[in-house]
Amino acid sequence: MAQLLPGVPHQLLEDVKRIVRQYEEYIMNPVNGHNLLNCAETMFPDMKVMGSTKIQYHCDCSKEVLYPMLYSLDQDDLLAAVAKRESIELVCHICGRKYKFDVDDISNLLKTF
Ligand SMILES: [Zn+2]
Repeated sequence: MAQLLPGVPHQLLEDVKRIVRQYEEYIMNPVNGHNLLNCAETMFPDMKVMGSTKIQYHCDCSKEVLYPMLYSLDQDDLLAAVAKRESIELVCHICGRKYKFDVDDISNLLKTF
């Protein structure tokens, strides 16, 4: 992650994006022994690392969070799933985790329509 300092012209951000796109292949497949810091130093020779910290990707999704999304489905489709005893799978668009809603889940939802 890179962050511009306050007051930096907006065009600089576009320049950074352009340079990163040019080096995309190198970033994804760094030369032996190179790490992301080496990649950054190659792309931006005048860059100065002010510090570093570990970051971790995390998605707070859960079955309970995605459950209300079933309301966006057509009621007839929900009824058909129950009639066929089929479950419905929803995929979190952020992390890709899949959640399966069984006939009981769908039936409970239909009671609220
Ligand atoms: Zn997620």
